[in-house]
Amino acid sequence: MGFIHQTQIISHALFAVFYPNQCQICDVDLTMNEKHVCLACSYDLPYIAQNEYQLQQLQQLFWGRVEVESVFSLLNYQRGNQTQRILHQLKYKKKKKLGSYFGEVLGATIIAETKFDLILPIPLHPKKERQRGFNQSSIIAEGIAKKINIPVSKKYLIRHAYNESQTQFSKYDRWQNVKRIFKVMHPHELENKHVLLVDDVLTTGATLEACVVELMQIKNCTISIATLAARI
Ligand SMILES: [Zn+2]
Repeated sequence: MGFIHQTQIISHALFAVFYPNQCQICDVDLTMNEKHVCLACSYDLPYIAQNEYQLQQLQQLFWGRVEVESVFSLLNYQRGNQTQRILHQLKYKKKKKLGSYFGEVLGATIIAETKFDLILPIPLHPKKERQRGFNQSSIIAEGIAKKINIPVSKKYLIRHAYNESQTQFSKYDRWQNVKRIFKVMHPHELENKHVLLVDDVLTTGATLEACVVELMQIKNCTISIATLAARI
């Protein structure tokens, strides 16, 4: 056995000790060829089909509210399903690599769309980002960027209100809660640009809508949306 080969085996063994590679959905041990999610779970995930019908369903969430060019999403989100588990692992168990991995998978589904100029992750309030240690939308955005080769920028959007967890609010209250909480910085730089807004999950659309409302004030700024998951 050559030295290099031996080193590889040892480092893999050490890696396995420090970072036990288990499926983030069902906890089974992963084989060396599996990443983050085992093959069985991966086949089982509720992927949103990239067909006209489903893409239109996603877009319909914004009809009559704000103007959005395209909406992309990877996984169907329902209470208690595998998608919810993935989002939970990312946000609360801080599985950043999992988020980045699925960001890449999402990026691969929109790779034909080379028309974007910039990817803008939906920001967290700085206080919340400090508490969590990262912004899950940025992690997903970086994954997408790796595939579609378009820069991610965090300098344009800021969130200036700290809103409480939204789960206990009705749809109307959620909208009241997120309205006017985003501010666009350097708006002139976004004139005549097509931006891809990225968030982790699309449910009522209220958060994304609040952000789109601000971006729509910019001259000839086109807005598309990509989320890891959506409830449709
Ligand atoms: Zn699994």
